[in-house]
Amino acid sequence: MKIMVSACLAGENCKYNGGNNRNEKVLQLMADHEVITVCPEQMGGLPTPRVPAEIVDGVVTAKDGRIVDGEFRAGAARCLEIARREKPDLIVLQSRSPSCGVKQRYDGTFTGTLVDGAGVTAQLLMQNGFRCLDVEELVGIHEGIVIEKLRLEEKELLKFFLYREAENPGWQVRWRET
Ligand code: SF4
Repeated sequence: MKIMVSACLAGENCKYNGGNNRNEKVLQLMADHEVITVCPEQMGGLPTPRVPAEIVDGVVTAKDGRIVDGEFRAGAARCLEIARREKPDLIVLQSRSPSCGVKQRYDGTFTGTLVDGAGVTAQLLMQNGFRCLDVEELVGIHEGIVIEKLRLEEKELLKFFLYREAENPGWQVRWRET
């Protein structure tokens, strides 16, 4: 399986503050799979460290007011180019980033408020048909099958199924909360 990941998850110090988001699950993926690391913000020409940015009314803007939309979108385009060339089976991205966020991002007020929606790179990759997963949703990969965290309604459905099956003689099903 070929997997593309946010470089900061692999421990690269490419985060806005010069640090990383090293993630044990991603390191495990790197041991077992072919992994390509990308940092769209650096690839768009931004330095590290850099002023943090958020998407303000659709335009990526740094906290000091500088418009960095061009750099962010150039980085996103570069990631798409790499994804098209490498054809990863899965892309695992850092949560809540204005570039890499898959499900949520900050709302553009620099107050730590989250809104639903993706960062510019995740959005572009998903629009082009690539399977992107927020790293917080990843449980693991077992024999080529990607295991994601269950959503609440999926948990309820699974519980219902397990309880129903448990009523059948011969079945021994136990539900374990995670
Ligand atoms: S752009 Fe993505 S890979 Fe780069 S530091 Fe931010 S979250 Fe990590």
